Amino acid sequence: MKKDIKTGFDTICVHAGIGDYEFNPVVPPIYQTSTFSFDTAEQGGSLFAGEQKGYIYTRMLNPTVEAMENAVAELEGGHKALGCASGMAAVHTIFASLTQSGDHVVCSSAVYGPTVTLLKTIMAKYGVETTFVNSSVLDEIENAMRPNTKVVFIETPGNPTLAISDLEEIAKITHKHGAKVVVDNTFMSPALQSPFALGTDVIMHSMTKFLNGHADVVGGIIVVKDEETYVSFRKVLNQLGGVIDPFNSFLVHRGIKTLSIRMQRSCENSLKIAEYLESHQEIKWVMYPGLKSHPQYDIGLKQQKGHGGMISFELKGGFEAGKILMNSVKVCTLAVSLGGVETLIQHPASMTHFSLGKEGREAAGITDGLVRLSVGIENVEDLIYDLEQALEKTKSKELALEEA
Ligand SMILES: *Cc1c(COP(=O)(O)O)cnc(C)c1O
Repeated sequence: MKKDIKTGFDTICVHAGIGDYEFNPVVPPIYQTSTFSFDTAEQGGSLFAGEQKGYIYTRMLNPTVEAMENAVAELEGGHKALGCASGMAAVHTIFASLTQSGDHVVCSSAVYGPTVTLLKTIMAKYGVETTFVNSSVLDEIENAMRPNTKVVFIETPGNPTLAISDLEEIAKITHKHGAKVVVDNTFMSPALQSPFALGTDVIMHSMTKFLNGHADVVGGIIVVKDEETYVSFRKVLNQLGGVIDPFNSFLVHRGIKTLSIRMQRSCENSLKIAEYLESHQEIKWVMYPGLKSHPQYDIGLKQQKGHGGMISFELKGGFEAGKILMNSVKVCTLAVSLGGVETLIQHPASMTHFSLGKEGREAAGITDGLVRLSVGIENVEDLIYDLEQALEKTKSKELALEEA
């Protein structure tokens, strides 16, 4: 595609980041090489001095990785992007770049669990203190700001509650205090939410999820708005070393071509499933940003182009019903992670959070009947039928228990 034409988002997904390569391939080649040779000592010297653009060593920059980075930067309307080995490598690189000992972070309590752990352990060990807040309540952010606050870190919709935070208002509060807003945009992907358009400063993704979309890559990315930030982040990433490799970059870049239509189908399926679940007698509540019962439904409408592919719900039958549901589904796959073409189902109380015990789980807000669904692109009738037959089994179990 020629660069001098303005296009819509679906077209950008298909064409973004593709440069010019030897032999004019339609997709970027996989430069599966750790290092690049110099023509002369002088050329090597000028590459290292930054006087000439070129590739030196794959940890520093690789053409296949760069093509994927350019694609994500374009999708997010950013300046440049930095490909990371995982979403967590991206989170670490961001905090290592933006904070130092004595600084303070405000973080939404509804963020990915390991992000909380990173802040509470590694960053705390290096002297960076964090205040966790309910970021859906703007006053909580305002009240947590200190003169040494450098970063406000937000995930919206949040993990695992799907609570929505108002990014535009949070950016105003944060900037008034001279700090930067970092958004984990994993759950929405660039197809459904544009945090830069809402005034925020840095975006990150776990590309393991929707961006790649096929459950076969672990990767992360950071998108920035200006060259100065890019250069400072790139130095930190080069030193920490958590870079993505060329082959995984190629797979993510391939996945991005269908991002828009995958998200569209996942949103359509999710709304139908959420409505079905909300009307089911075995279910206590359903949390999905597309349901009018969602507490921040209006903020979602304002800042999102779609409601996403994540649903959580609570089974009336609690722990036992959760286990039966997990063991009875036939189309939904029992697995953690999210954002792939296949629908994944998970019961935190018996799986990810089982070892915490009931009290530990309650402290973490994980109720016994909580189920999380990442809705894929299958036929929605198949997914609903699958949930129907599995929910039926949870009911008979409950009755059997009562009769016994
Ligand atoms: C999965 C996930 C991460 C971490 O990404 P990895 O690729 O597993 O390291 C961070 N944030 C969110 C919202 C996630 O879902």
